[in-house]
Amino acid sequence: MEIYYYILFFIFGICLGSFYNVLAMRLPKGESIIKPKSHCPKCLHELKWYELIPIISFIIQKGKCKNCQAKLSFFYPFTELVTGLLFVISYYSFGFSYDLIIALILVSVFVLVIVSDLSYLLIPDSFILIPSILILIITILESGFEIGIRQLAFGLFAFLLMYFVMLLGNKLFKKESLGGADIKLMFLVGLTLDPMLSILVIFLASIIALPVSLFLLVKNKEHIIPYGPFLMLGLLIVFFMKMDIQEIFNALLTWF
Ligand SMILES: [Zn+2]
Repeated sequence: MEIYYYILFFIFGICLGSFYNVLAMRLPKGESIIKPKSHCPKCLHELKWYELIPIISFIIQKGKCKNCQAKLSFFYPFTELVTGLLFVISYYSFGFSYDLIIALILVSVFVLVIVSDLSYLLIPDSFILIPSILILIITILESGFEIGIRQLAFGLFAFLLMYFVMLLGNKLFKKESLGGADIKLMFLVGLTLDPMLSILVIFLASIIALPVSLFLLVKNKEHIIPYGPFLMLGLLIVFFMKMDIQEIFNALLTWF
């Protein structure tokens, strides 16, 4: 029986992943998500429903457009697969619970931020605002109004903390070090976790971002590296492991 749930969450994930591709490719450009219909970027051939099945269409068509044989980006099926797998991991980690819903929302933001930040170096406000409202509602439903207000204050704290990090960075590097979206993303981080874990997310994101940035700097002479995806990756890791991290914290506290 359990295996059916995993399959269901995987299918649910790859379908939503496909939808997130559309959202994250179109909304930052101010385009409608309904019109025009999905088409081949080269020959503008409009895709039929059977050319839009997540992952499967890509495999059947061997990654090429049916009409003009142009190579299709591997990026789309990849995001779909990542969303599907992360949905499965979410269900595996949390079972049916409030934390599962929050995990699915965070995975969704992660995917949206990756596609949009890597493609356009920007994250639309709606990708942060709507999930924040949803997470706040779920927190209130799960733990009550007071905890909801507390988390809201934590979100504000994380937002301000990141704002000061940005000011410091601007002074040190004499140029813009963080984007406005990164600061807004920290609000989402604070809203989901407690202040200690929020700070841990910043450290974790920076540690993961450092080697990647150095690699890109050497390889492409790329100077602008989007930080949003790393922040979301840090948030996902900490959220999925918060029980273990809390235990480590407690152990350290008793040790000192
Ligand atoms: Zn084509």
